[in-house]
Amino acid sequence: MEREIKRYDVVIAGGGTAGVAAAIGAAQAGAQTLLLERNPYLGGEATHSGVAAFCGFFTCGGNPVQVVAGAGEQILEEMQRLSPASWNYVISATGNKNINFHPEYLKCAMDNVLEKNGVACLFHTRVTGVHTENGRIVSVECVDDEGGFTVAADAFVDTTGDANVVHLAGAETLWGDADGQVQAATLPFRLSGVDTSQDLSPAAVERAVVRAKEAGIPYLTKEKGFVLKREGSHQVSVLLPSVMPKSMESRELSKMELDTRRQVLYYVEAFQKYLPGMENCELTVIGPSIGFRETRRMKGKERVTADDVLSRRKRPDGVARGGWKPEIHKDANKMAEYLEVSEGSWFDIPLGALQCASIGNLFGAGRLISSEETAFAAVRVMGTCFATGHAAGVAAALQAKEGRADAARVRAELERQGALV
Ligand SMILES: Cc1cc2nc3c(=O)[nH]c(=O)nc-3n(C[C@H](O)[C@H](O)[C@H](O)COP(=O)(O)OP(=O)(O)OC[C@H]3O[C@@H](n4cnc5c(N)ncnc54)[C@H](O)[C@@H]3O)c2cc1C
Repeated sequence: MEREIKRYDVVIAGGGTAGVAAAIGAAQAGAQTLLLERNPYLGGEATHSGVAAFCGFFTCGGNPVQVVAGAGEQILEEMQRLSPASWNYVISATGNKNINFHPEYLKCAMDNVLEKNGVACLFHTRVTGVHTENGRIVSVECVDDEGGFTVAADAFVDTTGDANVVHLAGAETLWGDADGQVQAATLPFRLSGVDTSQDLSPAAVERAVVRAKEAGIPYLTKEKGFVLKREGSHQVSVLLPSVMPKSMESRELSKMELDTRRQVLYYVEAFQKYLPGMENCELTVIGPSIGFRETRRMKGKERVTADDVLSRRKRPDGVARGGWKPEIHKDANKMAEYLEVSEGSWFDIPLGALQCASIGNLFGAGRLISSEETAFAAVRVMGTCFATGHAAGVAAALQAKEGRADAARVRAELERQGALV
């Protein structure tokens, strides 16, 4: 039997930081909004991979300036309401003002904020196909455990991280650098029972992993990496086991999951034996999924360039602010390299980088936005994903309701909704 699903103004595929912000932006602009998510909860890599630190709400280095508010700030406020201990500001090991958070509170805060804004959410729903007519998407095909169904809308936002909607629509995507290499993927894991008053810096981690390797503990790869902690908590997230992705094919992804998951148990053993403060730690969560820093990106009407990021370019058609600097992970066994930028400054992300080059009513946000490889290394952080998501959601709502979305109109609506543009 044909399953009837209501028609929407805006459909958003993917409920990570970008997708949730897009849903808030579209709904607050007056659009009937549906969010489709293949997982049973929201947050994307922030929850599904346990990446527990928001970078990019502030500019890098000393004198941090807030560059993201609006939808992202609403989520932070709701997390505080649920539990004041759900996040706190930190100065990271690399000297940046970040927000370390508890992923489980993020899931619940996102549920509440979307419900409050009247966004319809379908979990356990994967977008598997796209119908286009005359250079526009008319509907997307979805699948759940009952079978397939179709959802129609006037405008669509791809916030799948992997540009899955762009790809399924047959529009052009980008992959990696000139050598076809993307950034390393990492499987985070969480430990409890940690004495977080001890030195858990990348240097301390390195000392422990080197000793563990010398003692013959197998399968350890990266020696230096981050342990993310929150004030007053004995739980930490660890970002170490890494691999280089080559494609999005399930055979390849399965190998990556197996390889990194096997590493986790040996890192736990290494920490228990050689990292002071971790003697009594217990493994609480692996992943659940490997975290992809980079896969497919959308080819947009415009591209954020390396020069835009490094020169902190401001532009009249900017619809989101990027505060981060290029953070490049091109070796699975090493920590990132950073390209330095001036303190306290940001770059503007133009609307064109959120508009699919060839499909009129398709927008993209989050880590898939149209960017050169070096610029990508700065725009992918979650503070910026909230900001580009918010902008793409507003743009999609205006496209659906007024038939067009120009930068001036999008900026005005974003300002009305409390975003920084
Ligand atoms: C190991 C690691 C460490 C990182 N460290 C940091 C950090 O410290 N701070 C920081 O700010 N950023 C960090 N990042 C980057 C950041 O986590 C990501 O770039 C960001 O979370 C991407 O958000 P997004 O919303 O674009 O996509 P995602 O979070 O990937 O969300 C995409 C969502 O779309 C869903 N989806 C995909 N395809 C479909 C489909 N076909 N149908 C339905 N749903 C679909 C997915 O299930 C997912 O929920 C890190 C990334 C990794 C991997």
